[in-house]
Amino acid sequence: MVALTGAGISVESGIPAFRGAQGLWDRFDPMEYATIEAFSADPEKVWRMFSTLLSLLLAAVPNRAHLGLAKLEQAERLRSVITQNVDGLHQAAGSRNVIEYHGNIRELVCLSCWKRFPLAGWSPGDSVPRCECNEILKPDLVLFGEPIPWGAQAAAEAEAKACGALLVIGTSAQVFPACDLPAIARAHGAVVIEINTEETPLTRTTTDLFLKGQASEIMSELVEAMR
Ligand code: NAD
Ligand code: ZN
Repeated sequence: MVALTGAGISVESGIPAFRGAQGLWDRFDPMEYATIEAFSADPEKVWRMFSTLLSLLLAAVPNRAHLGLAKLEQAERLRSVITQNVDGLHQAAGSRNVIEYHGNIRELVCLSCWKRFPLAGWSPGDSVPRCECNEILKPDLVLFGEPIPWGAQAAAEAEAKACGALLVIGTSAQVFPACDLPAIARAHGAVVIEINTEETPLTRTTTDLFLKGQASEIMSELVEAMR
C-alpha cells in the first residue's frame, strides 16, 4: 500500500482544513492569501496568515491516523506516504518514507537569491524573517500558482503507479495535480481505498472502497484488523 493524505488527516490534531467550517480560513481566504501572486505583491500581508498558521502547526501533535500509517510502514504493509500537508506530523509520528508534495515548513526560502534558512530560529510573534539580501523569506511550502517540487512529483507518480492499493485519507481531491494521483494509481491496477468524513469527487468515479468516518477511528480499526 501507499497512502495519499490531505488536510483532513490533521484536523483531529487541531489543524483546520481548508474546506468545512473553520475560523482560520474564514479570516484568511486561501484564494486571497495562499497564492504566489499575493506573496509577491504583499509578503507582509501573507505573513499574517503564515504567523497564525505556523503557531497552530508548531503546537500540533500526531493523532492515531498518523500513528497508524507509521505502524503499517514498520510492519512493511505500507511503502510510503505522499502528503499534501506541510505540518510534518507524519514524520513526527514515525513515518520514514514521506513524500512532501506541497513542501514543508521546516525551512524558509529566499525567492531572490534562493538561500535557505531553518524555521527553527523564528517563533510566532517575531517580526517577518528576512534573508541576508534583505528580501522577505517564504516558508518552503507550495502556494497556489507555484510548481510542485520536481522530485516529489516524480516520486509520487512512481509510487502511485507501483502500488497495489492506494489509501486516500482526508483530501477533498480538488487541488491539482495531487487530485490526479488516485486515477493514476487505478489506471495502473491499484485498488483505491478512500477514508473521509464526506464524499468527494473521487468517491463515485475512482474509489473502489469508501470508508466513511474520522481518519483516526478508521485507521485504528484498519491497523487492528491487519494485526
Ligand atoms: P481540504 O481542506 O481541501 O479538504 C479536507 C478533506 O478532509 C475534506 O474532504 C474533508 O471532508 C476531510 N476531513 C475533514 N476532517 C476529517 C477527518 N477527521 N477525517 C477524515 N477526513 C476528514 O484539504 P486538501 O484536499 O488536503 O487540500 C488543501 C490544501 O491545503 C492541501 O495542499 C493541504 O495540504 C493544504 N493544507 C494543509 C494543512 C496542513 O498541513 N495540516 C492544513 C490546511 C490546508
Ligand atoms: Zn536572499
